[in-house]
Amino acid sequence: MTTYNLRLKAKNELTPHPTVQYWRKCQVEELFAMPFMELVFKAAQVHRENFDPQAIQLSTLLSIKTGGCPEECEYCPQSARYDTGLEKQVMMDIEEIVEKAKIAKARGASRFCMGAAWRGPKPKDIKVVSNIISAVKALGLETCGTFGLLEEGMAEDLKQAGLDYYNHNLDTDPERYSKIVHTRNHDDRMDTLGKVRNAGLKVCCGGIVGMNETRPERAGLIASLANLDPQPESVPINQLIKVEGTPLENAEVLDWTEFVRTIAVARITMPKSYVRLSAGRTAMPEAMQTLCFMAGANSIFYGEKLLTTCNPEEDSDRLLMDKLDLYPLSYEPSEV
Ligand code: SF4
Repeated sequence: MTTYNLRLKAKNELTPHPTVQYWRKCQVEELFAMPFMELVFKAAQVHRENFDPQAIQLSTLLSIKTGGCPEECEYCPQSARYDTGLEKQVMMDIEEIVEKAKIAKARGASRFCMGAAWRGPKPKDIKVVSNIISAVKALGLETCGTFGLLEEGMAEDLKQAGLDYYNHNLDTDPERYSKIVHTRNHDDRMDTLGKVRNAGLKVCCGGIVGMNETRPERAGLIASLANLDPQPESVPINQLIKVEGTPLENAEVLDWTEFVRTIAVARITMPKSYVRLSAGRTAMPEAMQTLCFMAGANSIFYGEKLLTTCNPEEDSDRLLMDKLDLYPLSYEPSEV
């Protein structure tokens, strides 16, 4: 069995038989620098070579335990260190979660993602979320969890409970990680990603743009994701939602073309991954979202709320998908 150690690799440290192309940061920067239309066109070509461009994977995200997180991530309203006015919520009841999952499925979601605001789960938390995962899985939905840093054996327990995906984002360029997240480091993230892979779970791993980073730093984030070997099956690209009370509440506005470029570069460098247009969609006009789909985004978060911030209404999502002749990708449990 392959054992993954997903720490960031220099080119001369690559595994003997890498399954993915190694991307230097400067190569990713070259993609970012392409003329906009050429970049979108190239990404659209890569998209068509690997996917049905009309199929969109729909995930619904539910915060099952909200706020009061001891971590210090400058973008996050759930950190207990920031005064954002967010109401803390203890772990939701399993019945309530299952009810929400049923609704998500009835509305067309194929994957149900559950998030808990922890640095990482304790063994007793794993027991609780395992029961929840099994109950959601029994509805015929794909399951995804985002619970923070994992200790030995936890990923195996989650897999055993029926978890399909584990979400663990690399957030930003590894070189500026410590400027954004102050209570863990990039290697901690890579360590959990390795545990997730070794347990046979699929990886959902992306990042956030619009956090005052430079273009080379955006390229650094994409290179760090593309150089995960194997590449993540799912790559959420988030645009920062500036929440009052967080250190990034006044972050500079990222030009919309730069966001579309980020989607396109993610598509080109991770041709077989689902690239998800994630947080920040409420602020994106339909035409911008359309360009993102053209540039290779083929997954969205679907539902009223992301973890704690708003998401476009489902009706407007359906309307946009109808206008663009896009359809939801269905999930066949028997395939897994
Ligand atoms: S991003 Fe996650 S770990 Fe960081 S403060 Fe928010 S909930 Fe906690």
